Amino acid sequence: MHELSIAYSLVQMAGEAAANAGIHSVQVVHLRLGALSGVVEEALLFSYDIAAQGTILEGSRLIIEKIPVAVRCPTCGEVELPTMQRFRCPICETPTADIVRGKELEIAALEFEDEEDELAGVAAPTLAAV
Ligand SMILES: [Zn+2]
Repeated sequence: MHELSIAYSLVQMAGEAAANAGIHSVQVVHLRLGALSGVVEEALLFSYDIAAQGTILEGSRLIIEKIPVAVRCPTCGEVELPTMQRFRCPICETPTADIVRGKELEIAALEFEDEEDELAGVAAPTLAAV
């Protein structure tokens, strides 16, 4: 289950970002997860709780924002794919593999204690989705 290793990387990155920002207790981690990331959401949520144990992220929630796959069609521009079975423009049927969205696996924001506002734009390099 490679979600567990991803969860550990995620916890480590979020923990470092929090430490750099002087945060001692994280409540929520927002993650952007592309449909092509190869990550099973339920498995990642389960793994997250395990990975977070003993860290400043223990007891925090992982909120996943799913990003649908979008491709660039030479005729229609940027379009979302309704299915990943066919890499064709759903409007004009032109084959395209020019993916513009859907591979995301990145921390979008951390929510932490004693602060109302979110800490947006936390340094969040994309994790390697192997
Ligand atoms: Zn098209």
